[in-house]
Amino acid sequence: MNRISWNQYFMAQSHLLALRSTCTRLTVGATIVRDKRIIAGGYNGSIAGDVHCVDEGCYVIDNHCVRTIHAEMNALLQCAKFGVPTEGAEIYVTHFPCLQCTKALIQAGIKTVYYAKDYKNNPYAVDLFEKAGVKVEKVPLELPLNELLLSES
Ligand SMILES: [Zn+2]
Ligand SMILES: [Zn+2]
Repeated sequence: MNRISWNQYFMAQSHLLALRSTCTRLTVGATIVRDKRIIAGGYNGSIAGDVHCVDEGCYVIDNHCVRTIHAEMNALLQCAKFGVPTEGAEIYVTHFPCLQCTKALIQAGIKTVYYAKDYKNNPYAVDLFEKAGVKVEKVPLELPLNELLLSES
């Protein structure tokens, strides 16, 4: 029996969430996990009620789309909204977090960051993670998911 590892399971979840992204520039997903349980998830998307980049085009200032909230932030904010502690939690993200998300993750008490793909890895972000004692590990998505799901029948 092919049993999927926890790392691959949570990373797959983040990749599924990324498929919900509404910004065409980068599709990112993030899953916050505590004690092997998913406590929140997020993707790169607009503020609730605003238009979507996929419909209206990106709102670009200084070469960044300013319309969206990043996946990591959305996941953290979901915890804030529903009063779920993030202290000591782990996060699985499809891409290496940007500097702003890095700061938020550290400040929210996230202790481990698993990411699948390098993405403009900010040296200051790397430095901040190190100083904060946050473990950062690259976990590329392996996923013979279709095989795993379809081979049993
Ligand atoms: Zn956009
Ligand atoms: Zn970010």
